[in-house]
This record gives sequence, structure tokens and C-alpha cells, in this order.
Amino acid sequence: MTSLPAALQTGLALVLGLLIGSFLNVVIHRLPKMMERQWQAECASMSGSDAPEPPRYNLVYPPSACVHCQAPIRAWQNIPLLSFALQRGRCANCGGAISWRYPLVELVSGLMLAAFAGHWGLSGYWLWASGFGLTLLALALIDAATQLLPDDLTYPLLWAGLLFNLDAGFVPLSQAVVGAVAGYLILWSVYWLFKLTTGKEGMGYGDFKLLAALGAWLGWQMLPLIILLSSLVGALVGIVLMAAARQGRGQPMPFGPYLAAAGLIAFLWGKPILAWYLGG
Ligand SMILES: [Zn+2]
Repeated sequence: MTSLPAALQTGLALVLGLLIGSFLNVVIHRLPKMMERQWQAECASMSGSDAPEPPRYNLVYPPSACVHCQAPIRAWQNIPLLSFALQRGRCANCGGAISWRYPLVELVSGLMLAAFAGHWGLSGYWLWASGFGLTLLALALIDAATQLLPDDLTYPLLWAGLLFNLDAGFVPLSQAVVGAVAGYLILWSVYWLFKLTTGKEGMGYGDFKLLAALGAWLGWQMLPLIILLSSLVGALVGIVLMAAARQGRGQPMPFGPYLAAAGLIAFLWGKPILAWYLGG
């Protein structure tokens, strides 16, 4: 694939990213609901009640439908960006508004994979980078909407990071292993310190797992930078949200989107940033 002209590689990556973004929308929407259903089933079985078998619900079933009128979404209505533009953001059947989030996720996925292809070509490295970036995007949006970071995404991201560094993809494997352990322990310690001193829970276990995954991908050296960046951006956004009075003080704020953004920044520019900092 790397022998193709650069513009063609970027174009292919863009189209692929748009299509994957379309699937990512399904993951972002359905994964939290699937988790909720599983918890309810587990609770019901523990309390010994004979709950009726819940209807089948997963990433591929039931087929996508309009949230307003339940009309099935046909293949021609499922073309990334294009369908949304042609239908002017409305359901073809009932005219109900379709969320802006869908084309936006498709666009961001497409642009990310295209930018990565511009940088690495359609190489093996591009594949790893794309998997990393897309999983972080899904985690960030799920956390922002539901305050959940599903194990179904954080654990595979962690394992993938270790595999990626088997051949020193970003850092030597030893640094990746220490990074995974340290990433978990740092936030775990902060959580317990905060809880013991204030009696409140500042973050969730999903945050520990996400930082562990970032440590597995980027090595322990990147952890201070990731924590610094995510706290800075998180604090800024928090101040803006509070100023806009959309969020009261003390209301839980998801930390995952900031961790994810900081992780991606560290992956793309972390090495030059650290070299500049350590050299300067
Ligand atoms: Zn509709």
C-alpha cells in the first residue's frame, strides 16, 4: 500500500475513516446501553428473580433506526456525511432532527486517518496509530455522554499497547510495562487520597484503566506530560463550563475525554515536547 501515490493513500484513508466513523457512532451509542443491560441482568440473577429474557441488543442488532419514528435507516441513508447533507440533517420519514454528533464523529475519524496517512502512509504503523486514535475518540465521547469508560475498550487498548511495543513501536517493552502499571497506580493513589481526605470520589476506575492503557502505549516517561496536559485542559474547560453556568461546582466532570486528548497529543508530539523540555 505504501507504494501508492501519497494523495491516493490519504484519500483512501479519508474514505476508510468516514466509514469507520459511521460504525464508531454505533459503538458510542450502544456500548453504554449494552453495559447497562448487562448490569440489570446480573442484578436480577443475583436477587434470584426470574427476569424475562431481555430482547437481543448488540452492536449489529437491531438494525439502525430513526430515534423519533423507528423507521429503519436504509443503506443509502447511511452514507457518511453525504446522507446527512442530502437529508439536511432530518429523518427522511418523519422529519425529526438527526444529531450533529453523527456527521461530526465521521468527519473527525476521516480527517484523523487521513492525517495519519499523510504522516506515515498506509503502513503498519498507520494501522496501529489509527486503532489508537479511534479507540480514544470513542472512549472520550462515551465518557462525556455517560461518565463511563467501558472495560470492553480500555482493556483491549491496554493489551494492544503492550503488543505495539513488543517491537518497540513507540518505546521499548520494559517502559511500556512500567507505564501500564504506573499509570494505573498513579490515579488509584490520587483517588484514595482524595477519598480519604474529602470522603468524595473524584474519578472512577475507568480513568485508572485508561491511563494504564496510555502508559502501555507511550511508556512511563509520558505519564507526567499526560497528567499535566489533561489537568490543564480539564481545568480550563471546567472554568468555562462553570462560567457559562452549565455545570455547578462539585458536579462530577468526566476526566476521560481529557486523558484521551492528552494521550493523543503525547503520541503525536510528546517526544519533541519532552526533548525540548529536557534539553532546555
Ligand atoms: Zn424518523
